[in-house]
Amino acid sequence: MQRSPLKPKFNKEISLADAAANAEFAEKKRVWVPDQKEGYLSGWVAKENGEEWDVVCNNTTKTLRNDTLSPQNPPRFDKVSDIAELTYLNEASVVHNLRSRYGSDLIYTYSGLFLVAVNPYRELPIYTDAHVQAYRNRRREDNAPHIFAVTDRAWNDMMAERENQSVLITGESGAGKTENTKKVIQYLASIASNSAGRAPYDPSSRSEHARTPSRTSTAFLNPSSVPNSPSIGNSTGNGSLSSSSMTTLGTLEKQILQANPILESFGNAQTVRNNNSSRFGKFVRIEFSTKGQIAGAHIDWYLLEKSRVSARSNQERSFHVFYHLLNGADEDLLNALKLPSTDLLQYNYLSKTRKQVDGIDDEKEWNSLISALDVLGFDKEEQFNLFKVVGAILHLGNIDIKGDRQGQARIDDKDALERLSFVLGLSSSKELEQSIVNPRVMAGKETVIQSRSEDQARAEIASLAKTIYEKNFSKLIEKINTVLDRATESNTFIGVLDIAGFEIFQKNSFEQLCINYTNECLQQFFNHHMFVLEQEEYQREGIEWNFVNFGLDLQPTINLIESVSPIGILSCLDEECIMPKASDQTFTQKLTSLCLNREDNSKSKFSPSKFGDEGFIVQHYAGKVEYDTDGWLEKNKDPINDHLTKLLANSSDPYIADMFTEYASDDRKARGKGGAFRTVAQRHKEQLNALMKQLNSTQPHFVRCILPNSIKKPGRIEVGLVLDQLRCNGVLEGIRIARLGYPNRLPFSEFRSRYGVLTPDVISVHYMDARKVCQRMLESLGLDVELYRLGNSKIFFKAGVLAEMEERRDAIL
Ligand code: ADP
Ligand code: MG
Repeated sequence: MQRSPLKPKFNKEISLADAAANAEFAEKKRVWVPDQKEGYLSGWVAKENGEEWDVVCNNTTKTLRNDTLSPQNPPRFDKVSDIAELTYLNEASVVHNLRSRYGSDLIYTYSGLFLVAVNPYRELPIYTDAHVQAYRNRRREDNAPHIFAVTDRAWNDMMAERENQSVLITGESGAGKTENTKKVIQYLASIASNSAGRAPYDPSSRSEHARTPSRTSTAFLNPSSVPNSPSIGNSTGNGSLSSSSMTTLGTLEKQILQANPILESFGNAQTVRNNNSSRFGKFVRIEFSTKGQIAGAHIDWYLLEKSRVSARSNQERSFHVFYHLLNGADEDLLNALKLPSTDLLQYNYLSKTRKQVDGIDDEKEWNSLISALDVLGFDKEEQFNLFKVVGAILHLGNIDIKGDRQGQARIDDKDALERLSFVLGLSSSKELEQSIVNPRVMAGKETVIQSRSEDQARAEIASLAKTIYEKNFSKLIEKINTVLDRATESNTFIGVLDIAGFEIFQKNSFEQLCINYTNECLQQFFNHHMFVLEQEEYQREGIEWNFVNFGLDLQPTINLIESVSPIGILSCLDEECIMPKASDQTFTQKLTSLCLNREDNSKSKFSPSKFGDEGFIVQHYAGKVEYDTDGWLEKNKDPINDHLTKLLANSSDPYIADMFTEYASDDRKARGKGGAFRTVAQRHKEQLNALMKQLNSTQPHFVRCILPNSIKKPGRIEVGLVLDQLRCNGVLEGIRIARLGYPNRLPFSEFRSRYGVLTPDVISVHYMDARKVCQRMLESLGLDVELYRLGNSKIFFKAGVLAEMEERRDAIL
């Protein structure tokens, strides 16, 4: 077998080349030298002169402060599959490892509890049926790191313990979250299909106890471990499961897979960062029977970026479905939607920004969308309802609002208005017009007729477009769920979370607060999980270790955002939204004074903005973020006027009327606390709490996707960009915490057989028990007692110790 690049070099025999590399390395003190362009360059220390060191780098000698340099790992650690195994866990070494693996198309790497996935920006032949088989029922150590390995583990843990599982995938836009989510679902569909002729689950086929904390990977020290790469020969194939495997799937599995093109058509768009960017978050639960067969699925969604339907940067597009429809729909449908033209330039909501995208064939996508809708059981009427809303939005954008001399809005050209009335099932376009330019609204207990300015009327139209788009999306997923969700009490699930990671932009608005709040909660969940696992392991091994004081607790920031008493950011915003005369400034002022006067430990997480009442600063775990509060009141409210909503609630079209039933009554209070009247903040908080509650009932698996560069091209790693992400997504933090403890663990027997050669005198005594032998060995090795702890069945080492022993071992072998 050809030697796999994954195979740890220090595993067995050391090749001549390796030996030479090691020898050369040992002679010189190798360091990483910071570099503007490359991030880090390799160098070696020629002279140590106090804090000033002479370093040779690119054939030139520079004098540098030693604290700017980071030690390099010996070459034998090149491309290790778990970052936690590195001797030196500095940032440069972490990035170097990811970069050199990426250069060999090894896009997946473990880092303790995380699977790190770097977007390859090209199809790799690593998702074939053969790969599915290679990862089935195998231990993490047996194969190269892979999303399939994580998924397989989740499935096995679920089966072995009847416990729900979750796979949490985060990362920046374009980092590969959605692609990896699809791989998880495809893997599950192919191993757990009830018609794929798969053997039923056999727990005995898996030797390892499922709960063993996975971060302790010591495979590189285990001479008997299987080569670190699936042995699947030269199989090729593209990113998705082959069509042959699709045909063996059952109806339910096909429906689950086909839900995705529908979600993407309505929920994704081309952005600067990603041609197929999800503009919403999702949590997809795949439900399994006790036999491990897929029993159903359910989709929850979060924070759809509905503002995109009316405006976006001119480099970007609206949601895909608009383009799919105009490029693909037949004449009958277009006529029924009263769309006179398929020319994008004819529609104001589409004409001003990008129209075509490389790699997207809108006509073809339209056909895929329709066939997916067919598979999911949307009948023709239900399909028509979905597109009705899309068409209505195009008409909304074309309503030609003008302003008269006094600034009062008017609509001269009634064409779009009439088409819109027709599509929405409204009897009178006259009244629709009125509700936009002269709405009857409640002012206290009285009804008054307002006159609207040109801008106000335009904003009203845009609000309506956003609202109906979101309601349509919601109904779409509701319908998918009625088809897919057949779960019963006895089912367990694997949930996959595909949600945007932490965002720090030039300008951070309400959307960023919502997403960062979500990530703060998810990170807290991770910290808690890691803490519990570590604590359990230390306890099991009878080792005293206190993990409490490592800045793991993110609750103060979470409370700052979500607490009701004392009033946190979201509650304060909600209150301000119902105050007469409130503005973004009054909100900011009130919030600043409330937070500065808090008496709990959340106070330190808040600081006022340099720009006075235009924003504020929150200390998140990933860094300080300055939020700009411009437009927050509007973003948080339900902005459509009563006249318009009531009109729509009385539409003759049941699909449209149903979207607005909550508005049908005159009495706002009597309408109850229904969904439509919650603020965006309230709704998000409730959804997030429900998600966290679900996640807390699962055993989690963490995946961190990384954007390698800003040009969407394969083969290139921008070090600064990658480091920023590792900082924000908790990977570096995880390493920091692990380093505070004893990250490397080795069972007694393994330690003895591996390092016995270093202490022949101890080893020759046969009768001692394993623990005693190891203790004697450690004493004989002269290891500082702070570098290790002796547990009940394993030895725990500080980072780097094992590597040093490996070197000693090499020296005498
Ligand atoms: P995100 O959901 O994080 O915004 P996506 O999953 O949509 O990012 O990935 C963006 C693009 O990157 C995809 O459309 C695809 O072209 C590419 N990509 C991401 N992950 C992979 C992968 N594992 N294999 C091949 N291409 C990928
Ligand atoms: Mg996505």
